[in-house]
Amino acid sequence: MRDAVIHTPEEIERIRIAAQATAAVREQLRTMIIPGMTTRNVDDLAGRLIAETGGTSSFLGYHGFSGNICISINDVVVHGTGSDQVVIKDTDILSIDLGVTINGATGDTAVTLAFRDDLSADLKRLLSATEEALYAGIAEARKGKFVRDISAAVEAVGKKARLGIVREYVGHGCGTKLHEPPEVPNFVMPGFRGPKLVPGMVLAIEPMFNLGSARVYTEPDHWTVRTRDGQWSAHFEHQVLITETEPEILTCQKM
Ligand code: MG
Repeated sequence: MRDAVIHTPEEIERIRIAAQATAAVREQLRTMIIPGMTTRNVDDLAGRLIAETGGTSSFLGYHGFSGNICISINDVVVHGTGSDQVVIKDTDILSIDLGVTINGATGDTAVTLAFRDDLSADLKRLLSATEEALYAGIAEARKGKFVRDISAAVEAVGKKARLGIVREYVGHGCGTKLHEPPEVPNFVMPGFRGPKLVPGMVLAIEPMFNLGSARVYTEPDHWTVRTRDGQWSAHFEHQVLITETEPEILTCQKM
């Protein structure tokens, strides 16, 4: 396998369109998801909003995944699916992770939502540090740097906030396929530098931090990933283009 995919200008134009559609659906979901909905309602809504973009879900059917998007509540870290049994409470936190495929290109973005302003200090720390780590990673996504520089920046924020940094799931190249090389870990590994960043690389940077330990397990459904200790988890993700100058956050909504 190549160690990184470098996209052509023509591919980047298509990836931009898919990423913008993905961002638009994320922003609609952010305002439309309210307590009292089931997570199945959320998935159905996401399916409708994705269809309205003219694209299709990048996740539905991916290795057999059954949802339109990933919906991960509270101690679910990633890869949760909508359920009729789970009614969202205003005290919950809800991570949504989604991708829209259009014309052979895909977006990928995630955000963790909360529904009240009076969150506990721990939850505020979890949400703010995970999002801060995403932007710290993005700041390193520059020509001439290495994947390790992104990993180190993400990890530093997680460590400073005393959060568990999930190791089993990592960021990745993402453009004409949902998962492309390279992997983008949220932590540094001895001896791992990863490829040098060059213009045309598109990376999904996605810290997943836990309030407690980093340890996770997968439920018997083979998808739902939960924290071992039952403490809650957050996940923020943007898809970022390496350019000659500043990183371009493709999943920032531009209109
Ligand atoms: Mg991703």
